[in-house]
Amino acid sequence: MIQRKQIFINGEFVDSLSEEYDSILNPATGEVLAEAPICNKEDVDTAVQSAAAAFKTWRNTTPGERSTALLKLADRIEANAEELAVLETQNVGLPIQFSTHLIEFIVDNLRFFASAARLLQGPLSGEYMAQHTSMIRREPLGVVGSIAPWNFPLAMAIWKIGPAIAAGNTVVLKPSELTPLTALKLAELSVGILPPGVFNIVTGHGTEAGAELVRHPEVKMAALTGSVRAGSSIAKEAANSVKKLHLELGGKAPFIVFDDANMEEAVFWSAAGAFYNSGQDCTAATRIYIQENIYDEFIERLVSFVESTVVGDPMLPDTLVGPVISEAHLQKIDGMVQRAVNSGCKILSGGSRMDRPGFFYRPTVIAGAKQSYEIVQEEVFGPVITVMPFETDGEAIEMANDCKYGLASSVWTKNLDRAMRASKELEFGEVWTNTHLSLLSEMPHGGHKMSGYGSDLSVFALEEYTRFKHVMMKFE
Ligand code: NAD
Repeated sequence: MIQRKQIFINGEFVDSLSEEYDSILNPATGEVLAEAPICNKEDVDTAVQSAAAAFKTWRNTTPGERSTALLKLADRIEANAEELAVLETQNVGLPIQFSTHLIEFIVDNLRFFASAARLLQGPLSGEYMAQHTSMIRREPLGVVGSIAPWNFPLAMAIWKIGPAIAAGNTVVLKPSELTPLTALKLAELSVGILPPGVFNIVTGHGTEAGAELVRHPEVKMAALTGSVRAGSSIAKEAANSVKKLHLELGGKAPFIVFDDANMEEAVFWSAAGAFYNSGQDCTAATRIYIQENIYDEFIERLVSFVESTVVGDPMLPDTLVGPVISEAHLQKIDGMVQRAVNSGCKILSGGSRMDRPGFFYRPTVIAGAKQSYEIVQEEVFGPVITVMPFETDGEAIEMANDCKYGLASSVWTKNLDRAMRASKELEFGEVWTNTHLSLLSEMPHGGHKMSGYGSDLSVFALEEYTRFKHVMMKFE
């Protein structure tokens, strides 16, 4: 019998008032894993009221108390890591070796947020005007409405709720309608650690539960990780109530290989960076720009590497690439690939779905695209890369920047001047040299341009979830 999930409000699992459910699928098989409520306006209101009531107490806890609670939650996640990794792999299709590693990273993220809660900084108190003492208070905002995508459900949940709760806010999280299972497990793990109402979950659709959360007058900040389309819609809605926003949106990372790069490393990382989580990663290497004099050798090595990549059952320990999230998403990916072919591009590898149950798309390498093509400009969010030659350093930077997204980028070179110039010129929130995909708890992750604003991770994420107050006192 298929398990029917409940939502998490005020420290308890309860039925949704909507009595409507979505089937939650395993993308590797197409089988139903569970059913999750499609929450409505009333569900969202109940969750927000619970978070608003809890805020009255939670805001008065000390940073040390909040830190202790989050450290306990991190320990509990660590103790349940195996179950969480399996659940994430079943619901997302991320190969188990990567889910396992990701849970370790998430535990580290949460421990970092717990520590950072005690170390927020600001200007010194003092007399900036004679006989007037100024000081800065940094305060939580209230209820935060957090909305997460399906590609890394638990990591995105932690990146949203960790800094918000550490800073003294309370949260209503809406995970993606496709992947709510690990977030609901996280709620279960939080019982007895976080007081009732500090962390609540509503499940369901963006246009209903998500939009209601952003609209709710008691929600003081909306934080989204998702597409530009959702970000733009949320920004319009939030404008009505002048809510603070935090938007981590799409990406289309360039991967620039100069002729002095370590070829073996660059080939490996272009594929690893592109096909991790089947390319369903906002930092995925998607546009591979290769200097003309090494182009032929590079793509020959890349294609042979891609064709040897183990694609298949994500539960097997040596699988490197699993399925994509859904049939609809597979069709979207294939549509973009076929339109690229129709406009004259050449498929060097892949380019079609795999003949097996579930939603598997072959890792795909496309040559012959022009910079203006959809396949170069738009987020495919699947296992698809384009390879394009360039002549000069300036041309490479120009092509890399010629895109509406600005999240992550990488350059491959042994030349320090090239690397430094590129890190200055590239319009991306993250510029890696000779590496790709590496994120850290201590360093910010956030986009420029249409990839959004605000930072996840690092102390900057914590600052996002606070507001400042200038307190001034005159004395004689
Ligand atoms: P999506 O935008 O379709 O959905 C993201 C979340 O927003 C879901 O929970 C969805 O229900 C909700 N939502 C959608 N429309 C909404 C609306 N109008 N109002 C309120 N909520 C709404 O994105 P997705 O397909 O789940 O995830 C993939 C996208 O996320 C990609 O564009 C990817 O690049 C991006 N992403 C970005 C980062 C980052 O750090 N910048 C990380 C992961 C994913």
